[in-house]
Amino acid sequence: MSFRSFGSAVLIVIGVVTGARAVPPPQGMEWKVFKSRHLIVYHTGDEAGAEKLARAAESAVEKMRAALGCVRASGFWTWENRLRVYVYPSRADFLQATGAPAWAGARARAAVRELVLHGKVGGVEEATLLHELAHVVFREWVGFEDNVPLWLDEGVAAWLEARLAGADLAGRLPCKVRWPVEKLAALANGDLATSGDAASFYAQAADLVAFLLREGGSAAFLKFCRQLRAGKTTADALRFAYPEKFRSIADMDAAWRKRREASLEDGP
Ligand SMILES: [Zn+2]
Repeated sequence: MSFRSFGSAVLIVIGVVTGARAVPPPQGMEWKVFKSRHLIVYHTGDEAGAEKLARAAESAVEKMRAALGCVRASGFWTWENRLRVYVYPSRADFLQATGAPAWAGARARAAVRELVLHGKVGGVEEATLLHELAHVVFREWVGFEDNVPLWLDEGVAAWLEARLAGADLAGRLPCKVRWPVEKLAALANGDLATSGDAASFYAQAADLVAFLLREGGSAAFLKFCRQLRAGKTTADALRFAYPEKFRSIADMDAAWRKRREASLEDGP
């Protein structure tokens, strides 16, 4: 599950067991269907809007893969394996159909390659689309099912969202707030739902992801994620993927802080 990073709406992402492909569209809606090379958009609006959404998503997925250094063949999301995007006409329809909690604003299920959104099909907020797509691209890249740590899942999604939107991530960070990595890593959705700290959490998680990518590039980051997927602790995964850099979470925390202080000094 997840919260919309910098806005007010809240998003949800759920990992489920892999293998359930080509599920029929949910009933109860008069779906219209728009197909592009890698997407099938189910909507209730106009075709031009659906085409606009599909084009935006196609382009974003390519850029996200490039940003992550993901070399998955571009023909992977084809035919029955295309990403399915359901756009419900209203938030109430979305909540009713998904059974999502009332605070949820969108949903991504990577294992069945599906996004569920709501609103006017051509008017879905760019940040929402990017954020949810990022969850699917990232989880597929690493092979995560439902054991991806929240900070990593949301950090990558928020980082990709900001990067593709051309947003200045550093500008969005609450400069004075820097939680210990241990605290970031321990947070769960339930904590965020009640604490009001969601925006800060997202910004810090995205910054930590950006830091790890800068420190070891795509290869080390993927190695780190795959260790976590295999059930290793954060500390063990760090030592394995960044053997020359971090011997412990405390090492990473200190280096991350130092980097942040340096960038604040450089900045305006
Ligand atoms: Zn999210």
